[in-house]
Amino acid sequence: MRVLLSSITAVALALSGAAAAQQYPTRNLNMVVPYAAGGPTDTVARVVAQAMGKPLGHTVIVENRPSAGGILGPEYVKNAKPDGYTILIHHIGMATTPTLYRNLRYNPLTDFEYIGLINEVPMVIVAKSTMPAKDLKEFLAYIKANKDKVSYANAGIGAASHLCGMLFMSAIQTDFLTVPYKGTAPAMNDLLGGQVDFMCDQTTSTTSQIKSGKVKVYGITSAQRVSSLPDVPTLQEQGLKGADVGIWHGLYAPKGTPKPVLDKLVSSMQEALRDPTVRQRFTDLGAVTYGPERQTPAALEAHLKAEIAKWAPLIKKAGQYAD
Ligand code: ASP
Repeated sequence: MRVLLSSITAVALALSGAAAAQQYPTRNLNMVVPYAAGGPTDTVARVVAQAMGKPLGHTVIVENRPSAGGILGPEYVKNAKPDGYTILIHHIGMATTPTLYRNLRYNPLTDFEYIGLINEVPMVIVAKSTMPAKDLKEFLAYIKANKDKVSYANAGIGAASHLCGMLFMSAIQTDFLTVPYKGTAPAMNDLLGGQVDFMCDQTTSTTSQIKSGKVKVYGITSAQRVSSLPDVPTLQEQGLKGADVGIWHGLYAPKGTPKPVLDKLVSSMQEALRDPTVRQRFTDLGAVTYGPERQTPAALEAHLKAEIAKWAPLIKKAGQYAD
């Protein structure tokens, strides 16, 4: 009798879980951003979260869980209940941190369900407005001559700004003092205040500062110029090779999130990315929205794997590790 009752309870529980998954969502959900509010990842998150709220019928609240290197956000989401009410937005750092960190407390390949790829954003090398150099050539001469004095701001090991800085330093064979922040929003504040000298940050955050002349800009990390910043030359066209990088973003859920819930998240993200205002906003910020074929769990998984394989040897060569 007891066995029968417990199996009935188990079936009932499974059915109510399945019913909950079918009815999902019945309340607001949280999108975790692993960096500070007001920065580039936060900007992408807010655009996507707002647009996903419509098809989901509930608000997607952006929750900043900042840390240097962005490593606490994924860990938090990994440990969250896999019910679709906590999801993660993250960038290329999901692919670089497994090589950069000796003791990473999450595994990007086994601790998450994939929702899809969102967009790709180039980076720009920017400096404080009082930097005397007027172009990349002068800037390189200046920082090489002052390499013991200049400071480079980044968002910690694992951030896009760290990766770009690492590529830049190895391209010009010069090391600088780096100052880590919990996101490039606070780093930008210090750059505007002149407390640090330069950084490499995503156009999603830097476009307005460049347009208003509050920072000096020396080049963009994409292969072609972007339409939102037509006067900013690429690093490549100025002869600097090896510092090209595009910062891609993806959406993840904790491992074990039920399939009907994931399907709803996937279709809501895809609907958000079809929204013309979302696409326009991204274009204005220099970002390229991925096509529908890449806005899928399989495409994100394949891209993540390829990027881990791509960056591992470069990181090992640079010899930059953290615990
Ligand atoms: N994207 C991060 C932020 O939002 C910074 C970085 O990756 O460099 O602050």
